[in-house]
Amino acid sequence: MSERKPGWKQIPRGGLILEAGNAAQYLTGDWRSLRPVWDPEACSHCLFCWVYCPDAAILVAEGKMKGINLDFCKGCGICANQCPRTGALTMVTEGSVTAQAGS
Ligand code: SF4
Ligand code: SF4
Repeated sequence: MSERKPGWKQIPRGGLILEAGNAAQYLTGDWRSLRPVWDPEACSHCLFCWVYCPDAAILVAEGKMKGINLDFCKGCGICANQCPRTGALTMVTEGSVTAQAGS
């Protein structure tokens, strides 16, 4: 027998509150259609990308950029727009990366 759900009279004002959580539990990077590609040789480790990334997807250790967490990067391109170094961050299509991996 299926679990009986509460009727509207049992629901408190404001509705039922589901368990609080955050996006750290969900890998949201698969929404992406573009991805940033980082060139460590061109990077000056100014960390502008870290400051501006809205998803905290720029990985930093000991004051230096270490890469991009693609599990959470949405491909918005803000990091590449803010980066002052030519070629340090380049946006590419996911399709081009998939095609390279498959070749
Ligand atoms: S903004 Fe550009 S140069 Fe600065 S840390 Fe990020 S990738 Fe490197
Ligand atoms: S593309 Fe957007 S989400 Fe991804 S690392 Fe850059 S700023 Fe962050």
